[in-house]
Parts: sequence; C-alpha cells; structure tokens
Amino acid sequence: MNYVFPPAPQVVLPVAGREAGFPVRRVYCVGQNYADHSIEMGVDTRQPPFFFSKPNDALVPGGGDVAYPPMTENLQHEVELVIALGKGGANIPTDQALDYVFGYAIGFDLTRRDLQALAKEKKQPWDMGKGFDQGGPIAAIQPVDRIGHPAKGSIWLKVNGGLKQNGDLSQMTWKVAEIIANLSSYVRLAPGDLIFTGTPAGVSTIVRGDVLEGAIEGVGELKVRLV
Ligand code: MN
Repeated sequence: MNYVFPPAPQVVLPVAGREAGFPVRRVYCVGQNYADHSIEMGVDTRQPPFFFSKPNDALVPGGGDVAYPPMTENLQHEVELVIALGKGGANIPTDQALDYVFGYAIGFDLTRRDLQALAKEKKQPWDMGKGFDQGGPIAAIQPVDRIGHPAKGSIWLKVNGGLKQNGDLSQMTWKVAEIIANLSSYVRLAPGDLIFTGTPAGVSTIVRGDVLEGAIEGVGELKVRLV
C-alpha cells in the first residue's frame, strides 16, 4: 500500500518487565467517578458513568516535560488509574470484564478547565477542553500478571511537593469491571484501548514551571514538568 504522505506512527506505551510495547488504539475517559470530586464539580454522584475521549497521540509516554497548552488560562491536573485492555468485545458481562484487562497504569488527565466549563455551559462537546496535544501523560503499563487488579490503595498527586489530590481507589463510584462492561455496551472495545477511570477530589490550577508528581499504590508513579 502506498500513501499520499507517511502514516502517523503507532502510539506505543512501555510495559514494565517486558521488551514488547503496548500498541494504543483508543483512549476513553470516565467523567466524575469519585464522589468527592463530583461534589467539588457540583454534580449528582448517583449518575451512571459517562465517557469522553482523548486522541491517542495526546499521550505522553513516561511523562517528563509537557508543553503548557494554548488557549487556556486554567489548566488543571487529574490523577487517574488507567485500564489497558488486552482483549476486545462488545456487551462484556461485568463478571467477565476483568479477563479483558492486560494491565494498569497511572495517568494524568490534563484539562483546560476554562474551555471545559464553557463547553458545559453551552452544551457543547468537551473535546477542546480534554483532547489537546500532550494532554495525557502516562507511565509504563503494569501487567496484571505482575500486580493483579488493584481495587484499593492510595492515589495521590503533588504539585511542587505540596499534596493536592489524595484519595483511594476504593472510592471509585464505578469499579473497573463495571466501567468496562458499561463502555462495551456503547462501543466495541479492542486490544490496545485505554480507559482513564476518573479522579479524586483536589484538582487545581497549574502553571508553567510546575512539577506534578503522582502515584498509585501498587501501580506506579508519574512525574511531569510543565514547560
Ligand atoms: Mn478525568
């Protein structure tokens, strides 16, 4: 096959303990999945899960320097557990959903909160608030055969050494298996899909020069500097 220009390179994430990389297909994100963050955003905590997407080339594998994005005066951090799927399907039953998981990673769902807020107000899509270049720093994937399925454990994020977000995976409103089952009722999932699972309370505005450090107990750590 010839192309009229070279195709974009495959987005690949490192896998802890493996030579082979994880080829990324789609990147889904769950909105408002921790009750305390839902309350701080002023929304009902009993709503069913809802989803949005980031382009897969917005991922920044391994973190490091991230360029402060244009068109915002209120960039914010969200630390999240990311599900990495190794199998695909549609209408996946909840009690089988964990079998579809290849591994987990820690990721930051960087958000242009002012653009997202404007979109909410105007009932417009969130894409430009969530789907910008370098808006998804993510660490290496930890395979299930190394870490199992983390259902509890601390999830936190510091900005310049100061603790901003400090929650526990057990606070997730919708659990990993429920998220996969629900999402797969809307779209056919495939190996290589990632799902960011939402963030605990404590999101805050970040500026150029800030250093973000996050960790999820039993999953990993991620560090980003805004440049
Ligand atoms: Mn998020």
